[in-house]
Amino acid sequence: MTKIDDLPVRDELRGQSPYGAPQLDVPVQLNTNENPYPLPEPLVARIAERVSEAARQLNRYPDRDAVELRTGLAAYLTDTTGYRVTKEQVWAANGSNEVLQQLLQTFGGPGRTAIGFEPSYSMHALIARGTGTGWVSGPRNEDFTIDLDAARTAIAELRPNVVFVCSPNNPTGTAVDADTVLALYEAAQAAGPSMVIVDEAYVEFSHRASLLPLLEGRPNLVVSRTMSKAFGAAGLRLGYLAADPAVVDAVQLVRLPYHLSAVTQATALACLEHTGTLLGYVAQLKSERDRVVAALRGLGLDVTESDANFIQFGRFADTHAVWQAILDRGVLVRDNGVPGWLRVTAGTPAENDAFLGAVSTVIKEL
Ligand code: PMP
Repeated sequence: MTKIDDLPVRDELRGQSPYGAPQLDVPVQLNTNENPYPLPEPLVARIAERVSEAARQLNRYPDRDAVELRTGLAAYLTDTTGYRVTKEQVWAANGSNEVLQQLLQTFGGPGRTAIGFEPSYSMHALIARGTGTGWVSGPRNEDFTIDLDAARTAIAELRPNVVFVCSPNNPTGTAVDADTVLALYEAAQAAGPSMVIVDEAYVEFSHRASLLPLLEGRPNLVVSRTMSKAFGAAGLRLGYLAADPAVVDAVQLVRLPYHLSAVTQATALACLEHTGTLLGYVAQLKSERDRVVAALRGLGLDVTESDANFIQFGRFADTHAVWQAILDRGVLVRDNGVPGWLRVTAGTPAENDAFLGAVSTVIKEL
């Protein structure tokens, strides 16, 4: 049988593994930070209507610039942050992963480097690899906050072209404060200039405000967002960014023509019409998240402060054994490879109860 390495693949892909959170068929799946609530029926009906309309014109290419959708996303950002964003500042793609890929195709690439502060979202490094961008793993403190002095030194020495800040950070859960992002931005401009990408995939779940207002007067800052989490639409594949209009223009140089299908645009527009209901689910998930944090602490476990729809908990001598023991009780959580720690997504109250039941049994047996 032919293996990948028998093919003339690029050297940097040899021996690597693809991104792969396990998709196991177990009763309680709390491992990929999905929203547990299916879209409400009135929204499902509206999607059907909008998609039927779009289907009548599927013989034509979709709106290449997704103007109506970008206008809707700009209005959503303005309404929820109080910071005025225009459609010229917004760009959308198939999931924020594609947004990040387009950004690295534009601002990274061969001979260039990106830095991220790990542990963080593993796709930042993988997208760097896929785009031929060098990757540097920057430091964090013991409590998983960014070690600002070390980060500034690393930026000054390495002069990366792209700096990733994930806020709230996956898999640790904590949001980054505005002062830290500003300090990183200043350091990156002094060394670079370089782009600073703030990945706000989980920001709607945060105790802290969005970092979006920092865009004012900072053309090298980008905020990326997604409809996969707060909008409960991971299956839709719709991510977006807000930045200076020049960044949106620059990304046009690498985006594939008509990358965002008419069906995707129609579905995302329907979701935006139901923002109020969907943000209601976010409020429920936030309070469930806080309940699970308190319950885990009540069990004597360490829990990292969470601003997201997931929680990092530990500390375990044998992380994998605990992950397996929880799985044996029908609950799938995530082992992100952070030594001593596991991550669980906030689910419905019943799912969270099942998780807490499993954990309390498992830790008694340790
Ligand atoms: N950023 C972060 C921090 C994430 O955790 C994820 C998904 N797990 C993404 C981006 C990508 O999400 P999507 O492509 O579904 O928008």
